[in-house]
Amino acid sequence: MKITTIHADHWKMDGGVAFGVVPKTIWEKVYPEDEDNLVKITTRCSLLCYGNRKVLFDTGMGEKRDDKYYKYKFRFDVCEISAGLKAAGLSPAGITDVIFTHLHDDHVGGAVYYDKKQQPKELFPNARYWCSSRQFKWAFDSNPRESAAFFQDNILPLQNSGRCILIEKECHWDENIKLRIFNGHTRGQLVPFITAGSKTIVFLADFIPALANLPPHYVPAVDIEPLLSIHEKEAFLEEACENHYILVFQHDFYNEACTLRRTEKGIVADRIGNIADFFTK
Ligand SMILES: [Zn+2]
Repeated sequence: MKITTIHADHWKMDGGVAFGVVPKTIWEKVYPEDEDNLVKITTRCSLLCYGNRKVLFDTGMGEKRDDKYYKYKFRFDVCEISAGLKAAGLSPAGITDVIFTHLHDDHVGGAVYYDKKQQPKELFPNARYWCSSRQFKWAFDSNPRESAAFFQDNILPLQNSGRCILIEKECHWDENIKLRIFNGHTRGQLVPFITAGSKTIVFLADFIPALANLPPHYVPAVDIEPLLSIHEKEAFLEEACENHYILVFQHDFYNEACTLRRTEKGIVADRIGNIADFFTK
């Protein structure tokens, strides 16, 4: 199996949003901010190639919104998913499956664009799309906390393609990928657990967006149910430490992955590096 990281977007968000109830005087020691209190974010998508499968986790926010929308995303070093795929020797048409961790715009927006006639078009014309059934329903019947992140024009074209498959419960998606479900950030977020040789890689999506979010109470302000996020994280960190998982952070601008170790102060990052670093001795 070959795992390639593709950066779909670089953008900035308010540091307070990234760390919730943690005061700035504390979080600024672990994640740098700029003079406007913004922190740099990436949207890291993973591409898995094995057998005749080319599986992509998430797509970034894409390009189809207006300037006013992007003005509040503070994008920089603009990159996009198709350029990342091209660098990996693939075109969007070669992707067999896109697994959406959830349907917030920064994860699904890149899957649909508007053509010259302003008609919505899929970027991945041959892919099957996967999402949890709970998240799919949740995105259509949105709520005031998340309505700015769910867009019908991201989701309807995928549904209309006839290739969108909804996952009812946690499952072994195939022999290499297990899909687990976490509900604190949004309802029905899929978190892929990948078996690569003797190792397990966890693509954390927005469950734990950055290494600095590892301490259980460092929960982003956007999570819909922070106490549930904390409970889910505490249980997961125990499991991940015990089983030597490699954790992949989707939104951390500075750190791609880490393993964990137990200390007197709790479970903390052990080795930090890119995914490939964990497969070299
Ligand atoms: Zn996100």
